[in-house]
Amino acid sequence: MLFKILSKDGFRSLVEIILQSNEIIAPKKIGTKADGDPIHQFLPVTSFEEMDLDYRTTEYSAKTYFLPYRENLCTFDFEADDWEQKIAYRMQPRAIIGLRAFDINALTKLDKVFSKGRFPSPYYISRRKNTFIVGIDREPLEDEFCQSIGADIVTHGFDLFMTDLGDRYFVAVDSDRGFNLLNRVDVREVTDEDTQAYKEVRKRIQNGFKTKINLSNLPNLLDLEFTSEVWKKWGDKCLSCGSCAMVCPTCYCYGVSEEVSMDFKEGARVKQLYSCNLLDFARVAGGHNFRPDQETRLKYRYYHQHRGFLEDYDEPKCVGCNRCGRVCLAGISPAAVIRDLYEENV
Ligand code: SF4
Ligand code: SF4
Repeated sequence: MLFKILSKDGFRSLVEIILQSNEIIAPKKIGTKADGDPIHQFLPVTSFEEMDLDYRTTEYSAKTYFLPYRENLCTFDFEADDWEQKIAYRMQPRAIIGLRAFDINALTKLDKVFSKGRFPSPYYISRRKNTFIVGIDREPLEDEFCQSIGADIVTHGFDLFMTDLGDRYFVAVDSDRGFNLLNRVDVREVTDEDTQAYKEVRKRIQNGFKTKINLSNLPNLLDLEFTSEVWKKWGDKCLSCGSCAMVCPTCYCYGVSEEVSMDFKEGARVKQLYSCNLLDFARVAGGHNFRPDQETRLKYRYYHQHRGFLEDYDEPKCVGCNRCGRVCLAGISPAAVIRDLYEENV
């Protein structure tokens, strides 16, 4: 990994250079909660001032820019007895600025499924390859448990990753395009003093993690506790709304359907993200539902996050952002459920 020092003015110039010819998506303040806390989302910005890199979190992750909630995989035009299929997945290069380490780690997990898996998706690959990623380090929220799951530090999957040292950024460079862009602005080599300042900021961030969960041996524990009362306890609370999967940066289950216009002249094959907590997720032709109750559906979401994905890719799917815990109206959070499982086992 290559490191550089970027001045604050240099960063502004870098953003302005990108904006000259590309779209930028960044954390943007969109409102204020009743308690006065700001609400941020990843949205397109048109100026440096619109970005707010001091954001604490976003309700939704930036997943939607790689896996949209709804997209046409192809469209059809019907003409007499013939038909023509159109597929479009090429896109203009763009940048996403301000992703935290766990959100970049979430993307590298999606890469394993959609870029390097058995069935690569050209739609996902096109979006990923054409997106310049600039990440930023910062103090965690109290309920984030990414440190426990090893997703608080990122080593790849981005172009540039910045740590704010007050009057300058300590920048990790992980791609040629990141290196080339950086060389167009006010950048210099790292000194011992910069390295020392960086270590101090990193230490402060590391010490900021308040939610710690014991995840050792969790896959085995999940096997042991398959019929545990813990699933009923939390399942009974679940409203089957699916919000947890929608805000999650790594949930990617989806359904595909075909739609035809009323005049039979056009059609589309539509992909839509889905949630394993929704009532009909495991319903099959004939009406049988393999997971008819909330308890089973909730359980399988946890098994995919912490057991099934690990079996395929040697790492859990969850990155510990706790967006699902924050959005859940029933008060269900991974930290609470996993702690319950460990206590049950004791
Ligand atoms: S766990 Fe919470 S957010 Fe997820 S489906 Fe159940 S009620 Fe909705
Ligand atoms: S904490 Fe929840 S939202 Fe975040 S990655 Fe894990 S399962 Fe997804």
